[in-house]
Amino acid sequence: MTTQPDGVLSELIIAMEAWHCKVPVNARRDHGIGSVLGSVDVVVVKLTSESGAVGYGEASPWPVFCGTAEADLAAFERYFAPHVLNQPIGNRATILRRCEHAVVHCSDAKAALETALLDLTGQLLSLPVHALMGGKVRDRVPLSVSIANPDFNTDKQLAERIHNDGVRVVKVKTGFNTHEFDVMRIEWLQNNYPDFTVRVDYNQGLEPFDCMRVLQDIDDLNVGFIEQPVASRHWQCMREIRQSIRTPLLADESVFTPTDMVRAINEEICDAVSVKIMKCGGLTRGKEIAAIAEAAGLGAYGGDMFETGIAHLAGLHMVASTPAISLGCEYYQASYYLEQDLLASPFPVEDGQVIVPDKPGLGVEVDLNRIQSCALSQVIAQSS
Ligand code: MG
Repeated sequence: MTTQPDGVLSELIIAMEAWHCKVPVNARRDHGIGSVLGSVDVVVVKLTSESGAVGYGEASPWPVFCGTAEADLAAFERYFAPHVLNQPIGNRATILRRCEHAVVHCSDAKAALETALLDLTGQLLSLPVHALMGGKVRDRVPLSVSIANPDFNTDKQLAERIHNDGVRVVKVKTGFNTHEFDVMRIEWLQNNYPDFTVRVDYNQGLEPFDCMRVLQDIDDLNVGFIEQPVASRHWQCMREIRQSIRTPLLADESVFTPTDMVRAINEEICDAVSVKIMKCGGLTRGKEIAAIAEAAGLGAYGGDMFETGIAHLAGLHMVASTPAISLGCEYYQASYYLEQDLLASPFPVEDGQVIVPDKPGLGVEVDLNRIQSCALSQVIAQSS
């Protein structure tokens, strides 16, 4: 048991509010694992301290991948609140440890809670979140935008737009239609925009049976990396794929936790990993995964779910403060996919690079009116 913190860090958390928001999106997107159309569900959490300082976090639970907004809302109200309210803000690690053990899974809700605690602490100490995570090692992070519309003509317009904006990394979502459709899109992008780095993500869309011929075709196209071609459980197949292609193989759905990362290294299933705070439960865990990967000589990439700018910012502070996450990030939804973001000013992107904010906390104000206007439901927990 640690002693109680002094000064600003002794401030107690007196309220926790959470909103389940339905955020409209501008297009259909298909992935090997499932599709998105119309809107995405996120849960925004707000913590308030005794002095009235606030911190925000976001859970972005794509139901086919991480979890559900309904479960996240219950996690905040029923399982986290008793361990958060009346706790000093300086007890962040203790709060997170207790919440980790209070309910299984809900990794996206746990990521949101850590984000809100970091944002609140940063506001109180006038420090950016990256400073609380060890300090930044980069000011800008290359942005990757995903090509995932079943109507490729619409994605051609997106490609032109992002190219004009300075984006030079794209990730083609594959495995939801035919192999010919995938090859056509990759080659079209490479031929029309030779300065694009084209990466490929199957989101588990291939069956192990006969996946090798498909992947050897893609291998010949000289793409940047191939991500999670088969289901997360097919560890042996991932290993065999890695041995049969030259293109680096990236694990996403196979690696949620640091323990998964150790296994991935032991079983030699990948050359790099997609680190997502929603999979592992927060920034600290994400940094642990990256450290394990780095120790084994593997690369790491800043992945995301269907997020708004709030969760993008959390991931960005993690990437900014983690040397090993050097393959860029895919925090593009706030700029290119949402009809309207939940931040009060644009998510910071310039010339195809995400700019790391240096203001206190997450570094960009949220738009509380916007959060409330797209909320389906809300829970409020206050200290008595
Ligand atoms: Mg992926």
